[in-house]
Amino acid sequence: MLNDYKCNSCGLVREYWSKEETVKCRDCANTASKIMSGGNFSLPGIDTGFPTAADKWARRHRKANHHNLKELGIPC
Ligand SMILES: [Zn+2]
Repeated sequence: MLNDYKCNSCGLVREYWSKEETVKCRDCANTASKIMSGGNFSLPGIDTGFPTAADKWARRHRKANHHNLKELGIPC
């Protein structure tokens, strides 16, 4: 499988015929890490995605609890 890899040392992005997470850079022999195709592999997208999902779950959970408490006649 042909993947894009960016060298951690010299920063060159090259295509390597490998499915490994890292390969050996052709230019400097240091480690090159696989990058996602499409170009968008920044961490902020991942960092904001999980809290949003967690918040949604928490809000739904609290809402359900409120509903249950009302059914039980407990003010909340
Ligand atoms: Zn390199």
